[in-house]
Amino acid sequence: MKLLRVGPVGQEKPAILDGDGQVRDLSGIVPDFAGQGVSFAALDAIRALDLTRLAVISAPGRIGPCLATVPNFHAVGLNYAKHAAESGAAIPTEPVLFSKATSCLSGPNDPVILPRGSVKADWEVELGVIIGRAALYVSQAEALAHVAGYCVVNDVSERSFQIERGGQWVKGKSAPSFGPIGPWLVTADEVPDPQSLRLSLDLNGTRVQDSTTGDMIFSVAQIVSYISQFMQLLPGDIITTGTPEGVGLGMKPQRFLRPGDVMEVRVDGLGMQRQVVVAPGDRHG
Ligand code: ZN
Repeated sequence: MKLLRVGPVGQEKPAILDGDGQVRDLSGIVPDFAGQGVSFAALDAIRALDLTRLAVISAPGRIGPCLATVPNFHAVGLNYAKHAAESGAAIPTEPVLFSKATSCLSGPNDPVILPRGSVKADWEVELGVIIGRAALYVSQAEALAHVAGYCVVNDVSERSFQIERGGQWVKGKSAPSFGPIGPWLVTADEVPDPQSLRLSLDLNGTRVQDSTTGDMIFSVAQIVSYISQFMQLLPGDIITTGTPEGVGLGMKPQRFLRPGDVMEVRVDGLGMQRQVVVAPGDRHG
């Protein structure tokens, strides 16, 4: 299933894309997509519905983030060898785990707003993993049975805040609009192998990232298992799994985001995002 949320900011309705590409309204029938709303039980209840009986939203308009809120927004850094190299970092021997503030969530096509003082904003196409069942101390073999689905993530990053300001990466990863997710939550049954997805990012029409999730250092199963050794993963948590090479930080000369730049972000089978970069305080670009 391809689940999405449509409507103005803060007024999104849960919906489902049917086999003909029509958006069908789930509001009032299921809870919004967040927390237990994306548990396996909740997804099974949606799967049991007769979609033809649901109202078609003929002009869906804006697509919101595919999760209304997230309990936790986990992220893995340096999970592709060539990206670690372009970042001047060693190949990690354990997953590099960090967090993004949950307030950074935004719709897949919403503008990316440069934070005040931004000088090194950067792009990162990633595979997002959405948890559907609480996970604590799960093995790699058990890990994927805790995954509800997948989505496209652009792990937008301000490198000066991330790298040059001391402390943890969270400061550079968390500004409002730095977490576009969606357009869809694609349920795991439609993604038989999360390690065989092509992912790419175009900047102003030029392809700058083009790789496959097969190049991850730590697989989705390894990441889910690894995190669960330290904390409990909850239904509705999202984990973004790292970006391949081709970010602005790694270019020579380096190239960072400026107002007017356009990012198109794709993962096989999970849809496309398109963001216009806007100046601080300018939500309308
Ligand atoms: Zn990242």
